[in-house]
Amino acid sequence: MALTIGVDIGGTKIAAGVVDEDGQIVAHLLRPTPAENPDQVAHTIGEAVLELAKDREIEAVGLGAAGFVDETRSIVRFAPNLAWREEPLQKKVSDLVGLPVVVENDANAMAWGEARFGAGRGETHLVCVTVGTGIGGGLVFEGSLYRGRWGMGAELGHMQVVPEGRPCGCGNLGCWEQYASGSALVNEARIIAEADPGRAATLLKIAGTPDQIEGQEITDAARQGDSAALAAFASIGRWIGQGLADLAAVLDPGCFILGGGVSRASDLWIDEARDSFATQLSGRGHRPLADIRPAELGASAGLVGAADLARRR
Ligand SMILES: [Zn+2]
Repeated sequence: MALTIGVDIGGTKIAAGVVDEDGQIVAHLLRPTPAENPDQVAHTIGEAVLELAKDREIEAVGLGAAGFVDETRSIVRFAPNLAWREEPLQKKVSDLVGLPVVVENDANAMAWGEARFGAGRGETHLVCVTVGTGIGGGLVFEGSLYRGRWGMGAELGHMQVVPEGRPCGCGNLGCWEQYASGSALVNEARIIAEADPGRAATLLKIAGTPDQIEGQEITDAARQGDSAALAAFASIGRWIGQGLADLAAVLDPGCFILGGGVSRASDLWIDEARDSFATQLSGRGHRPLADIRPAELGASAGLVGAADLARRR
């Protein structure tokens, strides 16, 4: 069976795996990301690939990179969390490993993994939304990944949902990810805990002070019924639903797949997202409602998707 290697390059760790034609990971390893040094990043990827390729016949390598990847799928133009600026990642890694290499945006790779082997199997029009620290996105239409003219499409987190709203790391105001991401969740919970500590009693017992509240504490407190934690999740859900309604107005997908760290607790907010989607959708009542479902492949979606894209290069 033909094997390819997928590599998911994040800001803190690099996950690499050998993947078969059915999307199964047959071998896997993890390395810390030397984020400050682009040459060392390429080197670490190269070493991981060569180690996995030992005694195996590998066809190609797919890299999922957290950054803006150009339309030729070779160069990372810019990455917010790594020192990549016009980085020729495809050439560097392919010189090191002697195999064909393709580079893809990590959220696109994840969307492709879910479309092929996860929650999107059998769907022809899907939008994948990765809700983590920020929001990433991937669009799969009629069996193809939609990249845009310059390879930079589907940066869904930076749709403006609130004019003159909260400042975003991208330089604009009111971006979706400022209201509906892991950072927004933490922000929301801290504000409630500061303003009304009694309402956040369980959350504060777990976390300590409002500024010590992080995502895991909010999840734990919400599962114990903490009103502030539940309200923070509900807020995220409403904003997610609002953004999905905007996306449906433009793209009309058959389903939305929600992945990323915050989606691991999607049971705490997905109903809110569905309600808000259904009440904000343009033309509601006269069109089918796109299904909103959690991702299935978890943290390995990007790796599996990148490996499959390498196979279809
Ligand atoms: Zn932004």
